[in-house]
Amino acid sequence: MFTACEEHIDMAIDEFIFTYEEPPELRLIEELSVADDLHSKCQFCGAPTKYIVTKEVE
Ligand SMILES: [Zn+2]
Repeated sequence: MFTACEEHIDMAIDEFIFTYEEPPELRLIEELSVADDLHSKCQFCGAPTKYIVTKEVE
């Protein structure tokens, strides 16, 4: 799972595909009820997280 701000979402997607070799599912952090349990900062610049890039949940 990767966290990213709006500016670095493309980098997060690239990182995800490089790591897991499958397309990610994007979620806006506001939609997550468990947001408090997740990293709250962009992994690339430290800005507040806007998107979660994660594996698709069935
Ligand atoms: Zn960023």
